[in-house]
Amino acid sequence: MGKTGLNFFNPLTYLTYMKPITELLKQNVVLGDGGYLIELERRGYVDSGSGREKVGTGRGSGQFTPEVAIEQPDALRELHREFLNAGSQVLQALTFFGTREKLNRAGYGAQTENINAAAVKLAKEVAGGKALVAGSVSRTQLTEREGMESLGKSRDHIAEQIRLLKDAGVDFLIIETFFHLAEMKVALECAAAAGLPAVATMSFRPLITKCTDGHTPAECAKVMADLGAIAVGANCEQDPKRMLPLLREMRAATIVPLAAQPAAFHTTDACHSFTRLPAFPDDLETIQVSRTEFVDFGKVAKTEGIGFLGGCCGCNAAYIRSLARGISEAS
Ligand SMILES: [Zn+2]
Repeated sequence: MGKTGLNFFNPLTYLTYMKPITELLKQNVVLGDGGYLIELERRGYVDSGSGREKVGTGRGSGQFTPEVAIEQPDALRELHREFLNAGSQVLQALTFFGTREKLNRAGYGAQTENINAAAVKLAKEVAGGKALVAGSVSRTQLTEREGMESLGKSRDHIAEQIRLLKDAGVDFLIIETFFHLAEMKVALECAAAAGLPAVATMSFRPLITKCTDGHTPAECAKVMADLGAIAVGANCEQDPKRMLPLLREMRAATIVPLAAQPAAFHTTDACHSFTRLPAFPDDLETIQVSRTEFVDFGKVAKTEGIGFLGGCCGCNAAYIRSLARGISEAS
């Protein structure tokens, strides 16, 4: 494959790269990237927490924090390069689980400023003007651990992280992997207060019918759109086929573009979330979804009204290239 061969899959790159995300969303399906932490864990650079505690309980166990941004910057830089080369129009700074609350529990709280700033700097360096850079904002895990009375603390932590991301120069935010709509609302209010556009995606578990605090996908979509999200949808937990029905529910409830970043792991009819399956996190290779399913998902993106399309856990650059190929073949 020659140096420019992959551009075949992403004919929009050179026409649209400097436009803001709100403009890109009006033109065609925007191709994101992801997922970073599982891929870097597989490469030996991220700690899953497995071996010390039971990961995947839903109560905030497990590590998967982004200190790789300061400890192994070359590893993160390389993964950014791979996504860009595969056609990503947006690179996510690896700031997932980057609130001071979560970093404190992993022993990195004092590095909160450094980790967020370094992650954004790396993504911007690699993007080099050819892709937008999004700050990733995820749940604090406080709601899972301490309940709804902790939402005030969540607000302080999320507001702090968004301030750090804004200071570092992100183009917009991807607010993702929230289990509780109540905490997502807090995050969207913080984004609006900071004046940053936000793509907002919930994660549904153990089933796609309701999020953890009992709201349907349609209700979540409406609330996120009403709070100003520029695209609303779902990320993580489900493979593309399993995620599609919940995206259709969201599509019927709102007119803003949809965002979808599915995982590349098979789920079951009894459990729609891979992080609740016994294979998480040490046997994920046994439930890996093929890339062809991501080509197919790229093809349906346009007809399903998906404006922002990327991958989550289990996706490396080959999966993003598959999405790009699907979008290209459907265009
Ligand atoms: Zn994920």
